[in-house]
Amino acid sequence: MPETERKFDLVVLGGGSGGYACALRASQLGLSVALVEEDKVGGTCLHRGCIPTKALLHAGEVADAVRHSAAYGINSTLDSVDLAGVNSYKDDVVRRLYKGLQGLIKSRGITVVEGRGTLVSPDTVEVQGTPYQGNHVVLASGSYTKSLPDLAIDGERVLSSWEAMQLEQLPRHAIVLGGGVIGVEFASAWRSLGAEVTIIEALPRLVASEDAACSKALERAFRKRGIGVLANTSFRSVEKTEAGVRVSVTSGDTYDGDLLLVAVGRGPNTADLGYEAQAIEMDRGFVVTNNRLEASVPGVHAVGDIVAGMQLAHRGFQHGIFVAEDIAGLRPTPINEDGIPRVTYSDPEVASVGLSDERARQRHGDDAVESVTYDLGGNGKSQILRTQGFVKVVRHRDGPVLGIHLAGARVGELIGEAQLIYNWEAFPEDVASLVHMHPTQTEALGEAHLALAGKPLHAHS
Ligand SMILES: Cc1cc2nc3c(=O)[nH]c(=O)nc-3n(C[C@H](O)[C@H](O)[C@H](O)COP(=O)(O)OP(=O)(O)OC[C@H]3O[C@@H](n4cnc5c(N)ncnc54)[C@H](O)[C@@H]3O)c2cc1C
Repeated sequence: MPETERKFDLVVLGGGSGGYACALRASQLGLSVALVEEDKVGGTCLHRGCIPTKALLHAGEVADAVRHSAAYGINSTLDSVDLAGVNSYKDDVVRRLYKGLQGLIKSRGITVVEGRGTLVSPDTVEVQGTPYQGNHVVLASGSYTKSLPDLAIDGERVLSSWEAMQLEQLPRHAIVLGGGVIGVEFASAWRSLGAEVTIIEALPRLVASEDAACSKALERAFRKRGIGVLANTSFRSVEKTEAGVRVSVTSGDTYDGDLLLVAVGRGPNTADLGYEAQAIEMDRGFVVTNNRLEASVPGVHAVGDIVAGMQLAHRGFQHGIFVAEDIAGLRPTPINEDGIPRVTYSDPEVASVGLSDERARQRHGDDAVESVTYDLGGNGKSQILRTQGFVKVVRHRDGPVLGIHLAGARVGELIGEAQLIYNWEAFPEDVASLVHMHPTQTEALGEAHLALAGKPLHAHS
């Protein structure tokens, strides 16, 4: 490519959720874009994260449906789980989406540069000795699996999520270190597919960033499903045994399994990429940005998992769109991170948007906050699905909804409406006058808002 053609309005380093969304939106706005990717566009979410894990969870849901079908008057027997078949279904979903994404990127006229990029000046990314210059540079290099000191991931018995989703044989007993979203999702999928599972979590509860009521509901449901939950339990060491692994915790207890999944979080992938050398301000490996996602060096922006905050694909998409529009001069409104919905896709699911009860009270004061919990026991569709759980709505007394927290089968789909309520700063009274279809789980959202508006319907006053 001649030098003049290596000059772009925008050079994006990293083709994951944040980077490719930025590239797509920028090209839509008429900007010329180079997208540098050393592996596959789509990044962690498409190839190693959201999509493959959700396919595994869905396969597990199918197994559970067969296993428990007699509860609905349908007699069936689960013969076996063919993990090769599950993997082929999962890989096929990823393959189709990857093909679609490649086609989309091509159709938008984006120049995809294959190879490892390094920031060599504030406006230039170098790939295999070739410089690509941009009026703006967007850093979008994503994240990697973190471990603990002295805990080496060997990819065979001590696994990261990447190896865990490629297993050729289902573990008999999996030990999961970390009760955050990734650990909980694997625990749920493996249990559904037939494994024994034990989760070790140092904090007092699973999914600790969620409202405490959600953690409680999830733990109760997991225990009922036979998933061992060891909260307040700190990992000490792991040794390999003939059969697999023996994990010791600080109390001195040991747990035997055939593998250990390390799910203690993800760190920003920012080392050795030239960021620090270009004097970009960093904090514990994250790129420091202002609320317009501008880094400390003019012309450089950062999106996705390398910006401290929730590591979610849709946050990355939103970051990418925001930066493209800002560069194009559209002056979009900065993203309110509290308004980004979160879903843990286990069985049962946990979903939330806005502030937890506790955070709302810290921020606004005890007297200014009120909440209502509507039990899914009163919701027709949830009874048909035989799921337990709740919708909890937190509001500013005489003010808008501050947070919505859900637990139960399929509640992840309800967060779409919940995030509109939160982000549009609706009052419960506004939502109470809207009609929810019967019988659906969305009715439970309606019921919780009716109750908060002082006129509960299918609930005791
Ligand atoms: C197991 C798992 C399950 C998850 N499930 C969900 C979910 O259900 N929902 C959800 O919202 N989020 C989920 N996530 C999180 C989600 O995947 C991330 O938040 C999202 O991928 C972040 O996007 P990103 O663009 O910041 O980074 P990434 O998607 O990691 O993309 C970064 C890209 O940059 C490339 N790159 C890095 N360095 C260079 C370089 N020097 N040169 C060239 N290319 C480079 C990488 O190859 C990669 O493609 C999950 C993550 C994991 C691990």
